Amino acid sequence: MMRDELMKLLEDREDEMIELRRYLHEHPELSFEEEKTAEYIADFYSGKDVEVETDIGNGHGIIVTIKGASGGKTIGLRADFDALPIKEEADVPFKSQSEGVMHACGHDAHTAYLLILADCLIQLKDQLKGTIKIIHQHAEEQPPGGAKSIVDSGKLDDLEAIFGIHILPMAPAGTVGYHSGYSFNGRTYFKLKIKGIGGHGSSPHKANDAIVAGAHFVTAVQTVVSRRVDPMHSGVITIGSFDGKGSFNVIKDSIELEGDIRYSDDETQKVIDDEFHRIVEGLEGLFGVTCELTYTPDYPPLYNNPELTAFVADTLNSIQDKEFNEVKEFPKLAPSDDFAYYLEKIPGSYFYIGCTPKGVNEPYFNHHPKFDIDEDAILVAAKSVGHVAWSYLNE
Ligand code: MN
Repeated sequence: MMRDELMKLLEDREDEMIELRRYLHEHPELSFEEEKTAEYIADFYSGKDVEVETDIGNGHGIIVTIKGASGGKTIGLRADFDALPIKEEADVPFKSQSEGVMHACGHDAHTAYLLILADCLIQLKDQLKGTIKIIHQHAEEQPPGGAKSIVDSGKLDDLEAIFGIHILPMAPAGTVGYHSGYSFNGRTYFKLKIKGIGGHGSSPHKANDAIVAGAHFVTAVQTVVSRRVDPMHSGVITIGSFDGKGSFNVIKDSIELEGDIRYSDDETQKVIDDEFHRIVEGLEGLFGVTCELTYTPDYPPLYNNPELTAFVADTLNSIQDKEFNEVKEFPKLAPSDDFAYYLEKIPGSYFYIGCTPKGVNEPYFNHHPKFDIDEDAILVAAKSVGHVAWSYLNE
């Protein structure tokens, strides 16, 4: 039976997955600059009997199409491959060789497992029912991200389902997590310039104080989440920068605010968008200032299809595999991930692979300079995605 064969092949190649991950870890590249990583991935497939398309989307995206012997469903499996502008402080022998750049989110492990899983599927493709598109995605970490442009390329229009994983150190290797429905927050960046009229500190009546208007804005905008968002949903508005530096006896003519908005779901996003704009317009009327607003939604809230998430959980729960100790529901996560764009178009599920380093009680989380993983998680990732893909295509 092909499922068992696939699992055996994956087990036999665990060392290779770890080697690949370490190579990628030593050679991280920033979002949209992953030329060598993309070349390395494309080279991995050279000489293999599959269609490889490179430079997909707004960067170095790669799609590898594995066609089975008999027709059937078409699914996508995605792994991201970019790194972060972080100086590595993890004490590992395969430390980043690129100063100030680090695979601090585990995308090295994502890519390593998917390369070997893809290769094993290619080896078994005569027995494979349906088609699998392997998506090696660039630039997850930097909005606008790579995912949206890959979706917009139309090359995934034939997918019936899509799956992906993220490794997370909130559980040990051997734990697989899932969450149905909205699972990651969406986010928006904003910059607001408020222009008044400058003047002498002794003569406010001849000026129009931008700082006073800005201070009212800060207070007013905090009522959006507390007074407008349904308490059963969640959102947050953070003003991270209020630039009003001037002189103690001069009335400021203009100030600039910058901030970050997060929301759990599309409905909450709409409420916050509308209210935020209403307050900015109101500020002009209330204080006679003029406002210049840059309001840029980045990644949308990530929505895991409930049926397919139940399918992932049921599949992994029903399988007797020594690699899986526990399959359980994880909480919603506050960060954002551009896997959300695939899920806007294609039903699917993004699930989690525990990777707490052995013997560590309080692990460093993704994006920390000391982020590290238990490499046992890589085989768990390969096997779980392998099981889900095989089951989906055969059931
Ligand atoms: Mn990530």
